[in-house]
Amino acid sequence: MRYTTLLFDLDHTLFDFDTSEAVAFSSALATAGVDIENGYHDLFASINKALWVRVEAGELTANDVRVVRFEDLFEQTGIDADARAIADDYITGLGAHGDLYPGARELLEELSSEVTLALVSNGIGEVVSDKVARLDLEGYFDAIVVSGEIGVAKPHTGFFDIAFDRLDHPDKAMTLMIGDNLGSDIRGGINYGIDTCWYAPSSAEASVTPTYRVERLSEIPAVARG
Ligand SMILES: [Mg+2]
Repeated sequence: MRYTTLLFDLDHTLFDFDTSEAVAFSSALATAGVDIENGYHDLFASINKALWVRVEAGELTANDVRVVRFEDLFEQTGIDADARAIADDYITGLGAHGDLYPGARELLEELSSEVTLALVSNGIGEVVSDKVARLDLEGYFDAIVVSGEIGVAKPHTGFFDIAFDRLDHPDKAMTLMIGDNLGSDIRGGINYGIDTCWYAPSSAEASVTPTYRVERLSEIPAVARG
């Protein structure tokens, strides 16, 4: 194998976050009795995205995002609801809904018998733990590193220091970071001096240059083998 340690991002790489998120959002607001027939989901998505960019910049923590995204939504829409209670429901929903992308489990099955795998996520600890348990993912990974649990996020080198510690310091030259996000996964791998594989199912332009780019998960074993 060209690479003996693979670091996998979770959301939008292995896990269908968009479906999970849409169900969690409508379910949390419905529980609180808020009418969402007017497009708030798009607004929420843009608020959320902007907040996660600030997490990547080190201005906020993953845990801050949890409630602030609903506070911002309610402020901008005039909704009168308890941001903290809805945030809790939403977090529960994010862990409880959604599935791996087709082929993701087969990919993990195949690779985990050949190389060391780690799950490296910028998520909230409890959400990632719920997904890992519900989808029975733990057995595939030698380490699971979640920014919400360690207080530092991809792309910062401190995040990768902890991942490498937990993996007993693999050779950087034999380690590959795989993910969908240029700002956290690819930038993070480059910052840390490891090769990167950008999972980009659409024809987006790369603002940083990954070592590899794949459009399908099924292309990853060939990249790993070199
Ligand atoms: Mg991702």
